Amino acid sequence: MNRILELNVEERWVRVQPGLNLNEFNKKLEPHGLMFGPDPSSRDMCKLGGMLANNSAGPHTLRYGSVKDNVHAIRLHLTTGAWLTAETLADGDPATGALLAAHPPLAETLALVRKHADLIRSRKPKVSKNSTGYNLFGLVDGLDQGIVDLPKLFVGSEGTLGVISEATLKLVEKPTATATALIHFRHLEDIGQAVFDLLTLTPMALEVMDANTLNLIGRAAHGVPADAAATLLAEFDGTRGLSIAAILEQVKAICRKYRLCQDPTIAVEKEHQEQLWKARNALYPTLYRYDAKKKPINYVDDVVVPADRIAELVQYLSTFFKHQDVNVAIFGHIGNGNAHIVPLLDVSDQHDFEAMVAGYHEIHQTVVTRFGGSICGEHGDGRVRAEFVPKYFGEELYALFKQVKAAFDPRTVLNPGVKISTTPFTEHIDYARLSKPCATCGKCNSVCPVYDVFQSEDMSSRGWFEIVTAPGYEYLNSKRVVEACVNCKSCRTICPAGVDVSDLILQRRAEHPNKLAGAIFAWQGRPWLFEPFIKLLGRTQGLWDRPLPRRVMAQALAPLLRLLAPTAKLPADMVLPRLAPRLLRERHAELTEERGHHGTVAYFHGCAANYFQDGVGDAVIAVLRKNGIEPVLPRQRCSGTPIETYGHMDRVKAYARFNVESLSRYQTVVTGCASCTLALKDAPKWFSGEERKRAEAVATKVKHISEFLANGGLKAAPTKPCPKTVTYHSSCHLRAAGVSKPPRDLLKRLPGVTYVEMRDADRCAGGAGTFIVKDYDTSQKIFERKRAAIRDSGAQIVATSCPACMIQLKNGLRGEVEVRHIAELLREAYE
Ligand SMILES: Cc1cc2nc3c(=O)[nH]c(=O)nc-3n(C[C@H](O)[C@H](O)[C@H](O)COP(=O)(O)OP(=O)(O)OC[C@H]3O[C@@H](n4cnc5c(N)ncnc54)[C@H](O)[C@@H]3O)c2cc1C
Ligand code: SF4
Ligand code: SF4
Repeated sequence: MNRILELNVEERWVRVQPGLNLNEFNKKLEPHGLMFGPDPSSRDMCKLGGMLANNSAGPHTLRYGSVKDNVHAIRLHLTTGAWLTAETLADGDPATGALLAAHPPLAETLALVRKHADLIRSRKPKVSKNSTGYNLFGLVDGLDQGIVDLPKLFVGSEGTLGVISEATLKLVEKPTATATALIHFRHLEDIGQAVFDLLTLTPMALEVMDANTLNLIGRAAHGVPADAAATLLAEFDGTRGLSIAAILEQVKAICRKYRLCQDPTIAVEKEHQEQLWKARNALYPTLYRYDAKKKPINYVDDVVVPADRIAELVQYLSTFFKHQDVNVAIFGHIGNGNAHIVPLLDVSDQHDFEAMVAGYHEIHQTVVTRFGGSICGEHGDGRVRAEFVPKYFGEELYALFKQVKAAFDPRTVLNPGVKISTTPFTEHIDYARLSKPCATCGKCNSVCPVYDVFQSEDMSSRGWFEIVTAPGYEYLNSKRVVEACVNCKSCRTICPAGVDVSDLILQRRAEHPNKLAGAIFAWQGRPWLFEPFIKLLGRTQGLWDRPLPRRVMAQALAPLLRLLAPTAKLPADMVLPRLAPRLLRERHAELTEERGHHGTVAYFHGCAANYFQDGVGDAVIAVLRKNGIEPVLPRQRCSGTPIETYGHMDRVKAYARFNVESLSRYQTVVTGCASCTLALKDAPKWFSGEERKRAEAVATKVKHISEFLANGGLKAAPTKPCPKTVTYHSSCHLRAAGVSKPPRDLLKRLPGVTYVEMRDADRCAGGAGTFIVKDYDTSQKIFERKRAAIRDSGAQIVATSCPACMIQLKNGLRGEVEVRHIAELLREAYE
């Protein structure tokens, strides 16, 4: 249910299914210059069905409204068994009459609304956003204008009236350019007037974070001044008559009126803007990092007040929570007066529990009576706010809501307990979930390549967290899923709560290490036995790497490979890397430690560059030489990544110990492989005490060749032009090691190169070391997305930073696009 069924670019509408993820949806619209306006912070993971059901909103609601303002029609299945297309119809029209006759629940609801129109009007929330109760207000507004506005009834009904199977949505033009301003205020009371001033520039988004939120997420980590009492994020486009430059001048002029901690930070480049928004968009799960016991609890998380009273609201809340001795983060869509209030509590503690219950009632009551606000702007009533809905709207209107619910769902089978329920919210606390470090935000699923293929929670990062931390977990019952993770670490890179799902999975695998893999790694651990075999294969590759022998090999190896995994195979047509008849250490024997070569820079080549003649090792050495360095090839063992994925932790630890000892002697350790880089930077995790300190010292010296060169190591400018279009596939383990910009910067500096950033550059390509053998079919399915992105980029060369990724790219692209390691491209540029 995740397809776009119809897109009309000219008229700017689209017909979609509800399982489509918002980010994916917008990516598909991007080539047409369009997007969907409402943008919840959960956009990585949320689906259009959930957004429609919740009447979701986000920072851009200031400009485009919430979901209810962006819907033409929805198609629902009702409990009567009927299908209903809910669209805007003319009141009194025969077609409208026929529709009502065909759907008695609808006719009953409309009759109720007509009868009680005055009551509904009198109770209509007066603030700019509301997602609480049923939107009978929208129906009354429509009737006043002679229309029956059916989408208004169903959007925001939280799946309690029918199940949405399709929706026709309005689209908006994607701004061609935007700019973001980050403004740190020294005094909270200045915020109200500043918002008022900034709104005159019609920003697309205007967000606030209070002082305590800034403390909780870590000021230093986000470059927030120590004296900031609140921070505003404002986004502008240039479509409203004024150019962006002119708007930014006005922003600066407005800012000069207020007592700021420093000049506003202005970002115009996409990457810089994304950086400014990153902390805001990941705020809620980031709060999970703060304390192992006190968790961000959503029970007053979504109130709305008039926008000009938000500073007063923040002041009130700060005093309230201080009095309760509760730490709280307050942030939100200040332009709409929508505040997210997230206290940090240990709900199994009596004091915190009582503070929560008291806060729930008192804050909601105050928002309604003192501020004339709403208890819910965008998250929906769910099971948390349901209890307060009658108090907010009064018993008379609530009785109407109940009648509407009974008309559509007389047996209460649709989301029972949601929206229409008086069960106290405290009955729904999931204590087991709150005892875990995962915020269940699902950001990891949005980057998990396995989830991308299977689209199923039990084959996803978030699902695996749940499985491997469940009290009754048993490896043998969960083997299918636990063995499916490719260990790309993308989940770890993105998780704002600091959870490393892949590591938890590896720990579980270690309880049942794979025997065949163990035997192979033991063999590889004896170089005098293993290396002659590799060289023999290298010398004879021309003979056996042909279609017929490969078919025989594929058959012969099949039973053995099944010991690795039931899905393992080495297909006859898979493009294998070229094995080295002479290993790298033999080709460059004069640089080895064994031969007495010494220096301050070591090149940790790892297994791939040594065993494969893929050009990487020779290129790294050549490029270092061009920059005045004769690297030492230190004694080394496998960095451990492939061994770890098969659960042989003792061997990984022993090798890490060897490598730390060997590399301690050098000032800099250059690598050419993404996985080696990460494994060496992560080495401290295996040790404690003094050993850990030594490993940490080595970790700080480890630099991927791209990182080393981009950050000052590039002394000699490459001169030979490469008149080609180059894109970059960002290897997952290098991203996890924090190296994402340097390779791109280097490529842009190559003479003659036209650099293009491809879509999904930061997604796993599916090779994942030996995963390509362990589950070839899934690995190829993962690659499909990468192949499409590379093709669409129009690049002639796809560059990468990892020999393992090169195997997958070469096998998947089969010469359609040239695949090069970044060191190879540099080497050629020096020739
Ligand atoms: C970290 C984080 C940040 C968030 N930020 C925002 C924000 O900025 N703005 C905002 O508005 N919300 C936000 N939310 C809340 C929520 O994610 C959004 O409202 C989101 O749009 C809901 O989509 P979902 O896919 O998560 O829906 P789900 O949680 O899966 O579903 C939401 C509701 O819709 C119902 N539903 C789903 N599909 C259908 C269907 N086909 N037919 C009928 N009913 C259906 C479900 O039963 C459920 O009651 C946030 C949530 C998180 C975890
Ligand atoms: S593990 Fe996944 S779902 Fe859990 S907090 Fe991290 S990103 Fe969110
Ligand atoms: S390591 Fe990769 S495959 Fe495994 S759970 Fe994380 S994102 Fe998914």
